[in-house]
Amino acid sequence: MSLKVWQDGNLVAAEQAKVSVYDHGLLYGDGVFEGIRTYKGKVFRLDQHLQRLFRSAQAIRLSIPYNAEELGQAIHQTIKANGQTNAYIRLVVTRGPGDLGLDPNKSPKPMVLIITDKIALYPKQMYEKGMSIITAKTIRTPAQSLNPRVKSLNYLNNILAKIEASDAGVSEALMLNYDGYVAECTGDNIFAVQADKVLTPPVSAGILEGITRDTVIELAAAQGLELEEVQMRLDDLYSAEECFLTGTAAEIVPVTKIDDRIIGTGQPGPITKLLMASFHKYVHKQT
Ligand code: PMP
Repeated sequence: MSLKVWQDGNLVAAEQAKVSVYDHGLLYGDGVFEGIRTYKGKVFRLDQHLQRLFRSAQAIRLSIPYNAEELGQAIHQTIKANGQTNAYIRLVVTRGPGDLGLDPNKSPKPMVLIITDKIALYPKQMYEKGMSIITAKTIRTPAQSLNPRVKSLNYLNNILAKIEASDAGVSEALMLNYDGYVAECTGDNIFAVQADKVLTPPVSAGILEGITRDTVIELAAAQGLELEEVQMRLDDLYSAEECFLTGTAAEIVPVTKIDDRIIGTGQPGPITKLLMASFHKYVHKQT
């Protein structure tokens, strides 16, 4: 049975779904999206994802033709139609079809798409032994150009850094911001542990305010861990005791090598492991 996708109010077979060649999401990356996940059929932090989607849309002056409740219902309808319990959900809103010019005013009807699929995880071994990452030469787009808080369809900045990661034979690349401070990875937020304190760059470093990041910040507090959102240099990461990444698909993944530097003992550290365990417990409780 083929998977169904939800498009502009209808469930259609994935192979039959059509997007206009004039859609500005395709022509210009003009649109916004969310990557959401279900655990045992329950959508994780749906309200927060929808709030971020509407915030992103507002930032690019895109008016979504459905409200949050309707989009929530559409997501549930799609996962139900596909009989999925542990799914990755891609919710996309494009500017819609227009002409070949840039002017968004000529795209009166935004297009909304919900695709549900399997989760593409990092290999299990990375969770046990840790992941190696590199620092990309490509810097994160400055907030003054296109605020990374906006989860837009324009991911070329991240893709260029991801190519650097692939060239180096690793799965993720760390991106610094224009001022040389640590920002985030191409599709994950970053954390470090220094003197038993959990550190992560503030949103003002020019990052996506990750929902897994928010969850980890809450869990750290619940565990009585000290946590600080603080500007970090690459050197601070090199000398950290522990490092890990967070993201919807990745959850929490330990980082044990950055460039040619071993982080801490070269093994996932105790605070990382504690947060991984409390994340799994938390997710289990939510479902
Ligand atoms: N940063 C970037 C650039 C991302 O694309 C993502 C999502 N894949 C994240 C961070 C993590 O955000 P979340 O925890 O909401 O998935």
